[in-house]
Amino acid sequence: MRSIIVGGGVAGCAMAAALGRTTMSSSATIVERRLPGASAGMGFILLPNGLAALDELAPGIDWSDAGHWITRASLRSADGAVLSEHALEPSLCVSRHRFLRTLHELASADGRTRFVDGASVEGYERDTEGLGRAVHLADGARLEGEVFFGCDGARSRFRSMLFPDAELSDAAVHELVSVAEAPELARALGSTFRKFHDPRGGLAVGMIAEGAGRVVWFIQMDARMYRVRGTSADAFASFADAVLTDWPAEVLEAIACTDFSRSHLWQTRDLPPLAQLASSNAVLLGDAAHACLPFTSQGANGALVDAALLGRLLRDTRTQEEVMRAFDEYTRLRGPHHRRLFLEGRRLRDAFLAPVDAQGPLLPLVA
Ligand SMILES: Cc1cc2nc3c(=O)[nH]c(=O)nc-3n(C[C@H](O)[C@H](O)[C@H](O)COP(=O)(O)OP(=O)(O)OC[C@H]3O[C@@H](n4cnc5c(N)ncnc54)[C@H](O)[C@@H]3O)c2cc1C
Repeated sequence: MRSIIVGGGVAGCAMAAALGRTTMSSSATIVERRLPGASAGMGFILLPNGLAALDELAPGIDWSDAGHWITRASLRSADGAVLSEHALEPSLCVSRHRFLRTLHELASADGRTRFVDGASVEGYERDTEGLGRAVHLADGARLEGEVFFGCDGARSRFRSMLFPDAELSDAAVHELVSVAEAPELARALGSTFRKFHDPRGGLAVGMIAEGAGRVVWFIQMDARMYRVRGTSADAFASFADAVLTDWPAEVLEAIACTDFSRSHLWQTRDLPPLAQLASSNAVLLGDAAHACLPFTSQGANGALVDAALLGRLLRDTRTQEEVMRAFDEYTRLRGPHHRRLFLEGRRLRDAFLAPVDAQGPLLPLVA
């Protein structure tokens, strides 16, 4: 059967890699809106569940080279005082660009995956029984397939074609994500994820060394209280300077070593859990299925787990009926996890927006 994958991010490339290990997929076509080499984001933390999924998708690959190991979290106040410290199960902070490049290679390894880059999926064609037949691209091209995977991210167009009622929440928290070329700061952070909190709530700065002297860092803010005026490098730099004036030396060093023209302002939204993740022979995975708040650190990890599970469920399928049964099983197995992630993300967000209490801030990770 021919598989069509909409979106070539983490979920799309991981799904193509998973399909390579099944009997049902004769070929996979990944349609990706961006052109190769387009800016691919900063980085994220691969947690134990994401690393286990990667091991299943690509046994034998050592991902250590893709990033930097993190084993501790240190939560601090905006004056630098340590509020709490936590040992973490080893997790890998990776550059999204390098990680995607490796996943891309993995997806192409069996020679059955074709990439259609710089093309946007705009339509989905179904027959009278509701069975998907083809996707339509912005340039009018039509790609036929027997199985469809919606991996087009949080604002998924494919999801809106399957489930028109599904809607993302409003963005209560904005996040300005940057990379600092700061070897000394990277050395000082070592394997610790450091996060500083304004005790009044609604403002925090997190930072992690990502390797090769780079530090991925972010400013998280209550969107009702803080507004970045514009999306230019100057607007980002002025905002960081203005709100973080008296913050600890590490924060000021990160600001000083950042090229803000590469920063990204992210309006973080989540998706109320879907009752179904599939409709007939089409299924959603990654952020398209369960966009979650950044406090969970589960975006990339959840996408990898979805792809590994689907790969396992589809491994011995041969017909569209068997594929659809596998998709139902996927909803049954992943649904409860997505609901928990949504609720945990909301709990962490509410705690972030409130003043820091005597117990200190919550650890921004959901296992
Ligand atoms: C450019 C970019 C930068 C990011 N940077 C970070 C970061 O620094 N830190 C972090 O934690 N998370 C980041 N994320 C989000 C993170 O990658 C995801 O939360 C997570 O990896 C889940 O992956 P996904 O594949 O489901 O979604 P995404 O990574 O969002 O991938 C979806 C892909 O689908 C493509 N697409 C969308 N619509 C269409 C369409 N109609 N037709 C064809 N293709 C389409 C997009 O171009 C994108 O490549 C970023 C996402 C993007 C798109």
